[in-house]
Amino acid sequence: MDDCLFCKIVAGTIPSRKAYEDDEVLAFYDIDPQAPSHILVIPKRHIQSADALLPEDGTTVMAMFAAAQRVAKESGINKSGYRIVTNIGEDAGQSVPHMHLHVLGGRSLQWPPG
Ligand code: AMP
Ligand code: ZN
Repeated sequence: MDDCLFCKIVAGTIPSRKAYEDDEVLAFYDIDPQAPSHILVIPKRHIQSADALLPEDGTTVMAMFAAAQRVAKESGINKSGYRIVTNIGEDAGQSVPHMHLHVLGGRSLQWPPG
């Protein structure tokens, strides 16, 4: 998608600090981290949000969670625990309309979220 920030990060026209990449997904450090470890995992293909997922996206979704597991382990937060969040739409505060998993950890996270 031409006008999408995260598609531009996939294309390399906007820089990012990469944490992991494969054919399906890209993981990169959030520019405004909300925890000591805060990595975003996105599908390389434009998908607006988790609410737009279709059954045929199953491989991509698994690739996203596998990447989340991997970056959590590499960041050393898998043992202490971490949170995977995906915001959908306005009320959830989704600011970039390209689906992403926030992988957050390295501190005690509050529940419920605000
Ligand atoms: P959300 O608000 O759930 O849509 O999450 C979007 C996330 O993207 C926010 O946590 C932003 O800090 C992050 N973000 C926005 N622009 C960039 C960028 N250029 N590089 C890395 N992260 C970004
Ligand atoms: Zn996009």
